[in-house]
Amino acid sequence: MKCRHCHSPLTLPLVDLATSPPSNAYLRTDQLDSPERWYPLRVLVCEHCWLVQTEDFTQADQLFDADYAYFSSFSDAWLKHAQAYVTTMIDRFDLSATHRVVEIASNDGYLLQYVKAAGIPCYGIEPTASTAAAARAKGIESIERFFGTALADELSTAGRQADLIAANNVLAHVPDINDFVAGFARLLTPAGVATFEFPHLLKLLEHCQFDTIYHEHFSYLSLTAVARIFEANGLQVFDVEEWPTHGGSLRVFAQRAGGPHDVSPAVTAMLARETQAGLTQRDAYHSFQARAEAIKNAFVSFLLECKARGERVAAYGAAAKGNTLINFAGIRADLLAYVVDRNPAKQGKFLPGSRIPIVSPEHLIADQPAWIVILPWNLRDEVIGQMAEARQWGARFVTAIPDLAVHA
Ligand SMILES: [Zn+2]
Repeated sequence: MKCRHCHSPLTLPLVDLATSPPSNAYLRTDQLDSPERWYPLRVLVCEHCWLVQTEDFTQADQLFDADYAYFSSFSDAWLKHAQAYVTTMIDRFDLSATHRVVEIASNDGYLLQYVKAAGIPCYGIEPTASTAAAARAKGIESIERFFGTALADELSTAGRQADLIAANNVLAHVPDINDFVAGFARLLTPAGVATFEFPHLLKLLEHCQFDTIYHEHFSYLSLTAVARIFEANGLQVFDVEEWPTHGGSLRVFAQRAGGPHDVSPAVTAMLARETQAGLTQRDAYHSFQARAEAIKNAFVSFLLECKARGERVAAYGAAAKGNTLINFAGIRADLLAYVVDRNPAKQGKFLPGSRIPIVSPEHLIADQPAWIVILPWNLRDEVIGQMAEARQWGARFVTAIPDLAVHA
């Protein structure tokens, strides 16, 4: 396989997580007597541009189907993050009713609802039918297409260029990263700004967050790789911030090459930090496999011990992270009885691969299991807050990554 950005041959492995189905391919009851497609889940490192990427084998349109059930608005913490983002951008870039904001992967309108409320014209681009429909129900125009140069050119020609483009947690999810990034340079106004948020590769390596790896997540990004990819596609990074979201993310600010914003010293500083951490050397990537296996083994041991003691274990959060961990560890409903999710679209379905049932929070409260494994460890405090009632029957909360930890 060749690098998705620079086309160099990929020879350096990061991790091999065996095989699993697409992480968002939740099953309905009537699908349980049908087989599932399992794909290899391997991550490779480009030693030329340092883009870390999943091995290539499926098309994006097979991975994101119409049943795709992730609705951003089901996380309170994420909604707050989106609202704060909108306020900050309006302030920093003096956005008003004469400007236009566009969001790529606008989901159910979780972010643009705040732009609309501020009286700034906006529209979203969202290829997933169910979430785009939810955004339209909030009065937010949603173009149901994949973003890239073709769509950017159409919109620009139609006079629909953007003064601000928000792209939160989408850059890592596009297979053709060059065409995607080039689209921003074409859709922005000459002084326009695009912001990108993505989980930081530095944190993935530091905390062995291997469960953030899944098929639909094609790239694992450093500023080093992003700056290079942007430059090759007509964009320039002019600022970067660190955020605690998703276990440690970067928010990168970019403009068209030659745009009006000065490059912040934060950019040089982050590039230097990544170099110091060894991200541009082979050695930084070598121990990851053994560390991921140690975490998996500790989690399986914990579940086996609970089983031996006759203690029921449930999980919270039917999201991609959990599916990677559960399928890599080969866990089934005999060890992890069910997973709770607040999203009604997921309740009554089953996790892909493991086929562990997804139930409502009310089910967990009635069942009173001894342990609750929080699969989205990045939302740990939010989940513990939501499930405070579980303390009354003595349930304990557990996270598996970066180390098995009990939260008293
Ligand atoms: Zn490369």
